[in-house]
Amino acid sequence: MVDVAKNLHDVQKRLPDDVCLVAISKYHPKEMIASAYAAGQRVFGESREQELAEKVEALPNDIEWHFIGHLQTNKVKYIAPYISMIESVDSPKLLREINKHAARSNRVIDVLLELHIAEEATKYGFTLDKCRDFLEVGEWRELSNVRICGLMMMASNVDDERQIRQEMLTAKDFFNEVKERYFADQPSFKQRSWGMSHDYLIAVTCGSTMVRVGSAIFGER
Ligand SMILES: *Cc1c(COP(=O)(O)O)cnc(C)c1O
Repeated sequence: MVDVAKNLHDVQKRLPDDVCLVAISKYHPKEMIASAYAAGQRVFGESREQELAEKVEALPNDIEWHFIGHLQTNKVKYIAPYISMIESVDSPKLLREINKHAARSNRVIDVLLELHIAEEATKYGFTLDKCRDFLEVGEWRELSNVRICGLMMMASNVDDERQIRQEMLTAKDFFNEVKERYFADQPSFKQRSWGMSHDYLIAVTCGSTMVRVGSAIFGER
């Protein structure tokens, strides 16, 4: 049996106080989420709309749900009424769609822009140049029902700590660059979401403010 409360506590005590732990509960049953909730955890992350909807329905309503997976534009309308943060905005089109449905729900939805820095060809996200272009064009400034709160990335899934560190530091430098250029007057642009079960301790030495930890809390999927 996986001891969710103990695992959660072990992760939490390794994290600096100012780093937000997002417990990634995808593919795990709601009973396990309830155990983490009972142990004090309130922020959870899911990657599929349907699975998330079922969990939201069954679990306490003071949970903050983060969406962390690739989000199809036709699914935005289902999560817009309640999602607390969408961490995986990987295209201008998706951001526009989130803005539209947030407006219909009378909300401002917090989002992160997902960067593609890792070597893996399959990962979603803006390349640094695409992200620069997107911010420079400036259409995002008119989207008043989304608030861009920072950046998210996944490092390559490798054992080489140096490579992981280098990718995370690239993301940190990029954060500083765009913070200065586009968000200097916006204190809400402050989140650097990197670090998963195998690399969150590296992430906190590379400027992470938000780690997304799944299997180290809930066990293997
Ligand atoms: C699944 C997932 C995680 C958590 O991964 P673990 O290795 O289980 O900690 C974090 N971020 C994203 C984007 C994910 O899809």
